[in-house]
Amino acid sequence: MRAFYHPDQALHDPKQYLRFGAVVAPKDLPERTARLLSALAKHGVTPERPAAHGTGPVLAIHDAGFVRFLETAWAKWQELPAERGPEVWPSTFPYWSGRPDEDVRPPCRPTGFIGQLGWHLGDMSVPIGEHCWHSTLLSAETAVTAADAILAGERAVYSLCRPSGHHARADRASGFCYLNNTAIAAQRLRSTFNKVAILDVDAHHGDGTQQIFYRRDDVLTVSVHADPTNYYPFYTGYEDERGNGPGEGFNLNLPLAHGAGGAEMQAAIDRAGKAIRDFGAEVLVVALGYDAHKDDPIGVLKLDAADFGAIGRQVKGLGLPTLVVQEGGYAIEAIGDCLDAFLGGFAE
Ligand SMILES: [Zn+2]
Repeated sequence: MRAFYHPDQALHDPKQYLRFGAVVAPKDLPERTARLLSALAKHGVTPERPAAHGTGPVLAIHDAGFVRFLETAWAKWQELPAERGPEVWPSTFPYWSGRPDEDVRPPCRPTGFIGQLGWHLGDMSVPIGEHCWHSTLLSAETAVTAADAILAGERAVYSLCRPSGHHARADRASGFCYLNNTAIAAQRLRSTFNKVAILDVDAHHGDGTQQIFYRRDDVLTVSVHADPTNYYPFYTGYEDERGNGPGEGFNLNLPLAHGAGGAEMQAAIDRAGKAIRDFGAEVLVVALGYDAHKDDPIGVLKLDAADFGAIGRQVKGLGLPTLVVQEGGYAIEAIGDCLDAFLGGFAE
């Protein structure tokens, strides 16, 4: 399996994360990439560097004002009074109902930076530090280059994306995610494939990916995740969210009860697989997170590393060209074993 990664993706090093009303140590540590690289090495895989694509493929998915905001936020933050914090961080948020059909927002009205912060940063888990944009764009380029390898005929490619992407909406960062690598890659694949399926097995609902494709019938979005009634991202991820307009019937959410383990995950992926086959998918993008692992510091599911081997076998069983995009997973001691197991299962 070919893989892609740029070492500068580890420069992104967030300092703050608000949890239970306290500023705590961040969970998306740069060390995550080292653990995943070690797992790749076990399988004899040395990642190649992504090609420089710039923002072109990003703008096929994301709002131009949002992309400009991410690109310039650090510089603008330096112009604020000296009492500012160490990173770009929002302090106010616009009203939003949470309804997934209300997915298209007008351009951000405030011209002032503080108002734009609340518009484009959806929560307190996406601080923007000095290297954030550099790492974020490289992460997207990693996904694009991996998609191009599939377009060139590879059957399976892994893109080690960090920062992750599946919570990023067209015009909003949230949940450790700034640009939606999975969506950007899926759009790239659409240049050749008519029907693209996305299977998101991260423990959190892929709300950004759902929003981006919610009105489309050419990209099927399926997400298996922990029940959002009391788990991030809270406001979406429910079974009755099936798509809107022409996208009606092309979004499938399969929430799992908190405490669910490998058997429940496998049953959900069986259902997902049926939907992907019924859709007639020509290519598959797997948004792969490991935060369903029982040791995850922000997790509520109970998978062990071997369960990711089963996921790998199920994904392989779909028989499609497969692009694996790295999403979350924060149990530093476990994530390498999860990727190792996934790759082992996939190779069987
Ligand atoms: Zn997650």
